[in-house]
Amino acid sequence: MKKTNFSEWYNDILIDAQIMDVRYPIKGLYVWFPFGFKLRKLTYDVLRSLLDRDHEEAYFPLLIPENELLKESEHIKGFEEEVFWVTRGGFAELDIPLALRPTSETAIYPMFSIWIRSHADLPLKIYQLVNTFRYETKHTRPLIRLREITSFKEAHTAHASWEDAKLQTDAAVALYKEFYDRLGIPYIVSRRPQWDRFPGADYTLAFDTLMPDGKSLQVGTIHHLGTNFAKTFDITYEDRDGNQQFVNQTCYGISERCIAAVISVHGDDKGLVLPPEIAPVQVVIIPIYSKQADSEAILKACNELRDELSRYRVVLDTDDVRPGAKFYKWEKQGVPIRLEIGPRDLSKSSVTLVRRDTGKKESVKRSELQFRLAEAMINVLENITKKARAFLVSHTVAIEIPEQAKGKTGIFQISWCRSESCGRKLQELSDADVLGETEPMEGLCPICDAPTTIRALLARSY
Ligand code: ZN
Repeated sequence: MKKTNFSEWYNDILIDAQIMDVRYPIKGLYVWFPFGFKLRKLTYDVLRSLLDRDHEEAYFPLLIPENELLKESEHIKGFEEEVFWVTRGGFAELDIPLALRPTSETAIYPMFSIWIRSHADLPLKIYQLVNTFRYETKHTRPLIRLREITSFKEAHTAHASWEDAKLQTDAAVALYKEFYDRLGIPYIVSRRPQWDRFPGADYTLAFDTLMPDGKSLQVGTIHHLGTNFAKTFDITYEDRDGNQQFVNQTCYGISERCIAAVISVHGDDKGLVLPPEIAPVQVVIIPIYSKQADSEAILKACNELRDELSRYRVVLDTDDVRPGAKFYKWEKQGVPIRLEIGPRDLSKSSVTLVRRDTGKKESVKRSELQFRLAEAMINVLENITKKARAFLVSHTVAIEIPEQAKGKTGIFQISWCRSESCGRKLQELSDADVLGETEPMEGLCPICDAPTTIRALLARSY
């Protein structure tokens, strides 16, 4: 069903696997179930640990005064239709309307202007993990298109030179690659066309992955802001010669779309399939009783096993239901490894180990279990990564003319001269979006016949 009706599969799994409840009475706002929120926490723990290597976490207010939000004209043009406004406090009209942050540049940069004094303050690298609000008018969808983005990790950096900021965008790409590798999510990194760059940026790099329905999902963006915001918000530093210089800035973000990708890319018709590192339950132990056997001995062995495996997030399911019902329940929640102990396992001093990703069952000696389990955890990630990559690769196709992409799903590579008019024509003729520029190759722009080494990526996207 994931293959034939992805949209329905996606909506069902959010409820069935207890990720999100869509019944909150405001369009585009959803509720995290505790299980989903744990998945969110573990996923963002990975992201935090990567950022904490050389960024500092901070927090800026949700409300942004209108005059600050409107300062950068190109930036506000990109967002003005999506801003929620607070205009009243109690019964009193506010002197200055306050925006709910659609993104935080205009909350953070006035403070950067105060904080940054000299070259010794640079580079400055901070991030925050917050909610942001956008008045989406398109069809909203949990974790993908929301009016409250609940989990926006946004990093903001300031540097002495344009080149330093460029190096930071490269570092951010490397960081996001590491993050998505740990989630087993394949990606394509491209440079967004100039007409689709972040409002106020010199250029935008983006991570896209491919959803099971063949549409691309943008799962991360990285922006070189040059001195555009520094000039607007007067963010300067004194260089070594005593001259005032504008800083060069970058910002980069990831939202809960990373979780939408994990659910969609790895999940199957039985439910979630989770990378062990972020699985809220990594191992479930299920006792298999039978009439002839000594239930107490089995339960005792299961309890010992649970204690032995305390370094994992492990659950011993002793509920009074049939094993089959338990298998079904934990498969749905994507538990990577199931261990069963029944009479035969007990007599052989072994455990039955079942992998969620392959369904493969094997008997493992108790004495070898720790080792075999650690190995299985690594193999799960490797296997789901391989599968996901194979899907992306098999759905990425080089084409000669844009019409070849029409009515098809997947990602298409096509020569392009980089002009906006040809880019727009490519979009029109293929009925897809130009995601951006990918690795170069010699060719001719199919619209204007100009020789070029640039290739565009075309895809229908979320
Ligand atoms: Zn052209």
